[in-house]
Amino acid sequence: MDGAWRGVRLWRQAALAFALLAGFGAPAASAADCPGHPNALGTSRTLVVDPRQHPRIGTMQYPETLPLADHEVVLTFDDGPLPKNSNKVLDILAAECVKATFFTIGQQARNSPEGVRKLLAAGHTIGTHTQTHPLTMNRMPIERARQEIEDGIASTKAALGDNADALAPFFRIPGLLRADAVEDYLAEQGIQAWSADFLADDWRHVSSARVYDLAISRLEANGKGILLLHDIQARTVAALPRILETLKARGYRIVHVVPATQERPTTPTEPQEWLLHPAPDAIAHWPEVPNFVFANRGNLPAPARSDFDATAETPMLHEAALSRPSWPEPSELAAGNATVTLAAPASSLFEIEGGLDAARHGAALSRRGHKTASVAPGASEPIRTKRLSRRDARRLALANSRQLRLAQVSGRQSHRGAAGASRQKTHAVTTAHRGPVKRLVQVRKRRV
Ligand SMILES: [Zn+2]
Repeated sequence: MDGAWRGVRLWRQAALAFALLAGFGAPAASAADCPGHPNALGTSRTLVVDPRQHPRIGTMQYPETLPLADHEVVLTFDDGPLPKNSNKVLDILAAECVKATFFTIGQQARNSPEGVRKLLAAGHTIGTHTQTHPLTMNRMPIERARQEIEDGIASTKAALGDNADALAPFFRIPGLLRADAVEDYLAEQGIQAWSADFLADDWRHVSSARVYDLAISRLEANGKGILLLHDIQARTVAALPRILETLKARGYRIVHVVPATQERPTTPTEPQEWLLHPAPDAIAHWPEVPNFVFANRGNLPAPARSDFDATAETPMLHEAALSRPSWPEPSELAAGNATVTLAAPASSLFEIEGGLDAARHGAALSRRGHKTASVAPGASEPIRTKRLSRRDARRLALANSRQLRLAQVSGRQSHRGAAGASRQKTHAVTTAHRGPVKRLVQVRKRRV
């Protein structure tokens, strides 16, 4: 009897130890323990974060985001609670045992305090989203912004009553209309500013099918991240079951984010895991670039225009040029007058030997046939062009190959200069009409 009892006790101790080990760290529901929903998506893990260590997250606006592994997703819902739709969102999440983060508006919390308490009862994380959801936090006086933040927190805490401590120090700026002063204030208060990694445009007048498409396509493009949704929107309610279904089918895992407390230590992470594009191992381990030692660090000798004998028919180098130590110093550009001093072809390059009549004569010869024009060298070359004919090139090459090379190099350089200026101009024009900038302005005008 005694032995049997001891056996039961040992078994109980072992079971308890196993349970403790399994639940080590923060507890997280999984598909296996979602009562009544054996095929639920579940919540794969709980991530405990310290807002003071990482005050701003979300790659849409900040260099840092949550340290998620590939195929990990954090669901966030803004602007509630609005019982009509928020309760449906809660039901859909409960059916999949998915934990999310809700950013409540103070006024909504005042109108539906039981809606806030439902979030807590369901085990979700609750952050705040100002008192009145102003879309002007990027330009309002900081005193007003502080009031919005503090009132939103106070209203949500009032709704939570005795459980006010359960409110997470997480905050999302309405419309993501950030401002340095607002972020600084949040950081001083130990409140984490949450942007997002991608949106599903569910506040816009789009169909629920569109919300689904955007949520999934943007997640697939990111591979992981924080998804921003709105629990007050009927289209979100309609899209959510399919979104969760697809996440499950494609092997995505839900991560529940909670703030660190004295009893709940921060999940250990590496700083680079919080960065937008952490260096993959392959890149991190690339061999270092060898430290070359150059025998001569001075500038390479190169010819200047004055090195050429202007009177000669073909460019000739002065002997002194061969020992030139470096390029000549460029003349000082006057600030604000740079365009005038940009490199431009000299007018002499376009001079026509023998005058315009000779040019016309040459052109007429050319039209009659290249062969005719090149039969009599000298007389058949009324136009001095930068580009040499093949035959001429061969002739010059035979005469002086070094001189020919110099002539070609000189020609290419002036061509490159012109092309570069042209590219710059095109770039400036396309920048002025860029689409993304326009779209960003539109996004910012809308309510997020
Ligand atoms: Zn919002």
